[in-house]
Amino acid sequence: MYVVAITGGIGSGKTTIANQFAELGIEVVDADVIAREVVEPGTQALAAIADHFGPDVIEPSGQLDRRTLRERVFSDPQAKEWLNALLHPLIRSEMLRQCAAASSPYCLLVVPLLVENKLTDLANRVLVIDVDEATQIERTCRRDGVSAEQAKAIIAAQASRSERLAAADDVIENANGSEMAIKKRILALHETYLAIASQQGR
Ligand code: ATP
Repeated sequence: MYVVAITGGIGSGKTTIANQFAELGIEVVDADVIAREVVEPGTQALAAIADHFGPDVIEPSGQLDRRTLRERVFSDPQAKEWLNALLHPLIRSEMLRQCAAASSPYCLLVVPLLVENKLTDLANRVLVIDVDEATQIERTCRRDGVSAEQAKAIIAAQASRSERLAAADDVIENANGSEMAIKKRILALHETYLAIASQQGR
């Protein structure tokens, strides 16, 4: 399966653009969705987390209490390392499995932290969604109801724009007010990916 990874900072427009590829019939695999699936009730990973952190991190419904877990690992680098060592391989193999099972000519893998978590090797090609920081802040504040300071802090904790662009094979500039240009760019990239994927399959 030819895998195109799509990445970008918070509020850059990954989901919005992935949806447009989906409308063209391309299967989309989402790392954030998989990160939730691997800790659903009944999984070994959730049992291991409950064992390690205690019952506080499980909600009465049996679901993982993500907020409590996030707070616990925030102040404890060792705990965070333990959690990542448990979850990252599971998420990685599930991403590969879902991409391999895709039935479209190529598959789009949405990975917000592709560069940060050094996952570029999962993909044949890397598509970066790029926007200036002011736009990122404005969109994140509007969508999530957070303050500009909170949005800036998240941006600062992620890879920088230039680090991300250095990993890019292709870039979509997702600025406000250029819907037609973005649509054209998506169609052109789609044609390119179809051509490469069909050559590779021969
Ligand atoms: P995150 O990593 O935080 O989940 P994301 O990269 O998936 O974010 P989206 O959720 O797709 O980003 O977009 C962020 C917000 O910006 C959304 O509210 C979306 O509607 C809006 N948005 C995306 N692209 C554009 C655009 N070209 N013009 C205007 N608004 C846009």
